[in-house]
Amino acid sequence: MSHGPSPAPDAAPGSEPARPVVCTTRPLPGGPFAGPFARLAQEVDLRPGLEALAEAEGLVCFPGDPVDAALMARAPRLRAIATVSVGYDHIELPAAAARGIVVTHTPGVLTAATAELTFALMLAAARHLLAGDRLVREGGFRGFDPELLLGLELEGACLGVVGAGRIGSAVAERALAFGMRVLYHSRRPRPALEARGCARAPSLAALLEQADVVSLHVPLTAETYHLIGARELALMRPHAILVNTARGPVVDEAALVEALARGRPAAAALDVYEREPALSPGLAALPNAVLLPHLGSATARTRRRMAELAVAGLLDALAGRPPDHAVPLPDAPSAHPSS
Ligand code: NAP
Repeated sequence: MSHGPSPAPDAAPGSEPARPVVCTTRPLPGGPFAGPFARLAQEVDLRPGLEALAEAEGLVCFPGDPVDAALMARAPRLRAIATVSVGYDHIELPAAAARGIVVTHTPGVLTAATAELTFALMLAAARHLLAGDRLVREGGFRGFDPELLLGLELEGACLGVVGAGRIGSAVAERALAFGMRVLYHSRRPRPALEARGCARAPSLAALLEQADVVSLHVPLTAETYHLIGARELALMRPHAILVNTARGPVVDEAALVEALARGRPAAAALDVYEREPALSPGLAALPNAVLLPHLGSATARTRRRMAELAVAGLLDALAGRPPDHAVPLPDAPSAHPSS
């Protein structure tokens, strides 16, 4: 029995059914993506790029590539969108819902990689790794100095996890192994985290007031846009560190630049930016900011697994099977309004 996608509906009777055209929002990456996309190309008519969008029934997209109503309008046959990411804030979901387009994403497989990168950022900021590296390279290392680059010790420090889902929980687990005290903020309680000794903060403000390190793991939604602004930054402890591996617009970046310039919070470690890849004026010049180019899931193992999941989701959706990881879509507006 074939597990391939159902043929294009307009295939002539008796003819070899046309394979559905699948486009991609960027040229196909190689490396760990090559195997999964080669398998996809056996099942569909894969046309990397957007040139064949007018014929496309499927679309593979990546974070940072907007898939909005205008793009969907150029693809009248589109039935399925697979993003190679867990976040789907770059896809205009109401437009997909209105057309009945299935959207899939890749949760879970990138949790460990992103949690590990969160710790890399946390340690880099807490222990002044970038300043130390620069000092050595620039010839400023004069031998052991008992007062050089004294940092924040994570053991015994309080981590505030904002958004205790898959990645936030994985960061909390790692923090416990470092001997940190963990507070979390989520809309729903997380009994599994509490069983491990983590405590739910009574409010976001309470978490910000108590944490030595605040780590953001909420999705970008209308509710989380600028969740951390000037008011929230001012609540943070003077020596605290803000880590963002979620999405840039969760933080008001201009307010963050101003706060860091004043030294409160003491440091920020960022993987994502409000207007990626552009940086807010002044951010790159701040010595108390650690800046990475959106590397959260960037390990070869994880990228291969993300590609495999995206390909499986797209093939399921094109074949009319319910994909394992469909993005919940908002209710589509009724096509026949009663009034
Ligand atoms: P997830 O399992 O859905 O976790 C997100 C959590 O945020 C949910 O458990 C949700 O819990 C909480 N949340 C949602 N809205 C909230 C709000 N308004 N206030 C407080 N908490 C809220 O997602 P995940 O797999 O952990 O991924 C999280 C995000 O990380 C993704 O959406 C993506 O944007 C980002 N990410 C970035 C990278 C990178 O490369 N830097 C890599 C992977 C993921 P409640 O519903 O209980 O509130």
